[in-house]
Amino acid sequence: MCVIDHAAKPAEKVRISGGGRCNFTNIHTTPANFLSENPHFAKSALARYTPWDFCDLVARHGLTWHEKTLGQLFCDQRSGAIIQMLLDELDAVNGTLRLSTSLSEVRHADGRFHVETSGGALIADNLVVATGGLSIPKMGASGLAYDLARQFGHDIVSTRPALVPFTFTGALKDTFSGLSGVACPVDAQAARGPDFHEAMLFTHRGLSGPAMLQVSSYWRETEALSIDLAPGWSVVDALNEAKANSPKQRLSTWLSGHYPDRLAAEIAGWPGVPGEKQLANLSRAETDQLAITLKKWRITPAGTEGWRTAEVTAGGISTDGLSSRSLESKTVPGLYFIGECVDVTGWLGGYNFQWAWASAAAAGEALASH
Ligand SMILES: Cc1cc2nc3c(=O)[nH]c(=O)nc-3n(C[C@H](O)[C@H](O)[C@H](O)COP(=O)(O)OP(=O)(O)OC[C@H]3O[C@@H](n4cnc5c(N)ncnc54)[C@H](O)[C@@H]3O)c2cc1C
Repeated sequence: MCVIDHAAKPAEKVRISGGGRCNFTNIHTTPANFLSENPHFAKSALARYTPWDFCDLVARHGLTWHEKTLGQLFCDQRSGAIIQMLLDELDAVNGTLRLSTSLSEVRHADGRFHVETSGGALIADNLVVATGGLSIPKMGASGLAYDLARQFGHDIVSTRPALVPFTFTGALKDTFSGLSGVACPVDAQAARGPDFHEAMLFTHRGLSGPAMLQVSSYWRETEALSIDLAPGWSVVDALNEAKANSPKQRLSTWLSGHYPDRLAAEIAGWPGVPGEKQLANLSRAETDQLAITLKKWRITPAGTEGWRTAEVTAGGISTDGLSSRSLESKTVPGLYFIGECVDVTGWLGGYNFQWAWASAAAAGEALASH
C-alpha cells in the first residue's frame, strides 16, 4: 500500500483538531448526526465500525482519552499521538507514505490505475481517494477528490462551507462586534435543521460557538435563524416569580441576573423591551412580549466566514454512485472514495473523524477480501 499526500506533514487536520487534543470520535454517533442527500447511506459503515472500535485501536496503542461533553472523546496524549498511531498502523502493514508528492494525472486502463505523481508513475489495482474537502485551503485542502470523481463519471452534490461562523453586516455587525467575546447557552435552529442546545459566542464579525457552527451546516443563504435565548426555562414564569419576590427590581437588573452584563444591557435597549421599568409595573402584554423576544429571536446572517475557517465541507461526491457497504464506485471497479470528500457531513463533536474512520474501515475490509 502506498499513501500519497501533497502536504509536507501527515494528517494536518488531525493535528489541529479539537484544539490540539483531537476529538477523535463521539460515543453517541448515529446516522442522524450526519447530513447527506441520502440519510441512509452512512448507516452500513457506521454500524460496522463504531466509536468503540476506534477506542479499542487507541487503547491498543497505549493511549488514553476522556469525555469532555456531549459524548466527545479527546485524546489525553494530544493529537500528535493519534497521528503517530496512524503512522504505526500503516507501518504494520508495510505501507509507505510519500509526502510532498502531488498527482498530475490518473488513468484507468486495462483494469488498473495509472497514477502520475511528482515522484514518478505508479500502477495499482485499486485507488482509494481520501483527499478530503475544501475547508481551510491554506492547510492543503484541494478539490482533487471531486475532480477525480467527475473524471470517472460521478455526480457531485454542490459543496458549501459547514461548521463555520456566521457573518453579519450593518447595524447587526456593529452590535455583535460590541458584544465580542460574550457567550451564552441557546437553542438554535436553521430553517431545515434540528435544534441544537449549545453555547453561542458573539464575535467581531458575527456569531460563532458550537450552536452556531452546528446550525451553519443546515443554513442556506438568505434564511433566518431561530434562536431561543432562554433555553429550557420559561421567561414568563421566571418574571412572575421575580415580580413577586422583588417587585421594585428593574427589568435591566433582572436581565443581568440571566445574561452576561454586556448582553443584558444590549437586550434591555432592544425595541419593545422596557429595561428601566420596575418588574411590578410590567404589564402582562409586556411580559408576554419579552418572552417572545427572548425565546423566538430571529436573525438573518449575511453569510459565513467561508472556506477559510469552515471545519468541514457539506455536500461532495454523490452517494448515488457509491456502494454504501464498501465505498467503492458502482461504475469503476477498484475506485473508492472515503472520508470528507463523500456527501456525508457530521455534526460538530467528533462525528467527522468517526465517519473518516468508519468509511476507511469499510473500504479496507472490501480491499482485504479481494
Ligand atoms: C480546525 C479543524 C478542526 C477540526 N476538529 C475536528 C474534531 O475535533 N473532530 C472531528 O471529528 N473532526 C474535526 N474536524 C474535521 C476533520 O478534520 C475532517 O472531517 C477529517 O480530517 C476528514 O478526513 P479526510 O481523511 O477525509 O480528509 P483530510 O483529513 O482533510 O485529509 C486529506 C488529505 O489529503 C491531502 N490532499 C488534499 N488534496 C490533495 C492533492 N491534490 N494531492 C495530494 N494530496 C492531497 C491533504 O494534504 C490531506 O492530508 C476539524 C477540521 C478542522 C479544519
